[in-house]
Amino acid sequence: MQRIRTVRAMQALADAERAAGKTLALVPTMGALHAGHLALVEEARRLADHVTVSIFVNPTQFGPGEDFAQYPRTLEQDLAALEAVGGVEAVFAPSVEEMYPDGQDGQRTWVVVEALDAHLCGRFRPGHFRGVATVVAKLFHACRPHVAVFGRKDAQQFLILRRMARDLNLGVEVVGVPIVREADGLALSSRNVYLTPSQRRQAGVLSQAVAAARQAIARGEQHPAVLVESMRKIMAQAPEAQVQYAEVVDVETLAPLDRIAPGQEVLAAVAVFFGQTRLIDNAFARAPERPSD
Ligand code: AMP
Repeated sequence: MQRIRTVRAMQALADAERAAGKTLALVPTMGALHAGHLALVEEARRLADHVTVSIFVNPTQFGPGEDFAQYPRTLEQDLAALEAVGGVEAVFAPSVEEMYPDGQDGQRTWVVVEALDAHLCGRFRPGHFRGVATVVAKLFHACRPHVAVFGRKDAQQFLILRRMARDLNLGVEVVGVPIVREADGLALSSRNVYLTPSQRRQAGVLSQAVAAARQAIARGEQHPAVLVESMRKIMAQAPEAQVQYAEVVDVETLAPLDRIAPGQEVLAAVAVFFGQTRLIDNAFARAPERPSD
């Protein structure tokens, strides 16, 4: 496994692999790797000959007052974890200066995926998806993958990046992997380490809420207001949970719905604060073709 720090070296490796006829997969991460990330690596290995994992805590996707400075950075442990699972040819771990040579304020080119960034997390994190789309475009140009693998845990991110790849003809297939969860349903996240033991015990309510919504949609519930009410009720059982949003949206537009149509694919999504720690969860669901009522 090679450790690569510069864009130029990464491009040279990717070009050589492409010239040798290999297919390349990229798994973008911010490090502090856990089993959720490793599931993406496994999928990448299935899809391509050569797997690159990028590890970069991207400053431009954090807002003022968010946890950029505190975000866990565990590079040596991450490298050991990737060595242990095997099948990763390269780890691209650039510095902030390498990715933003003119500084974050000197970056003049940004990628904005319009409208899709106005809903869900985008409503509460202005500029977040601009930072994500821009850094992922830069990572694509550095690593030159045929396929890029993302987690559906960050469902809005996955849908925005899939749209970016399509709209800009990037020639990268964007693949979404199902959420990896703890035994009580909590989605694995690098931010779970911030939770106190009591918050950790309560945090299972997110997955209970979205699972209940998914089941109700599959049974034919067509009214997002009813689903949102039930998700909020479940999460209210956790005394420290401060719900930022609970919504049911269309998977293409990410816009809230008045009514779910027969056969429509929707996303039930929540964001919840436990103290300063913000957790998200979601479930994709498809309404039955024939409504039951
Ligand atoms: P992060 O390092 O948190 O930016 O995440 C890097 C990638 O891993 C993103 O595509 C995430 O959606 C994905 N990911 C994080 N947690 C999970 C999880 N529990 N299950 C599946 N994918 C995940």
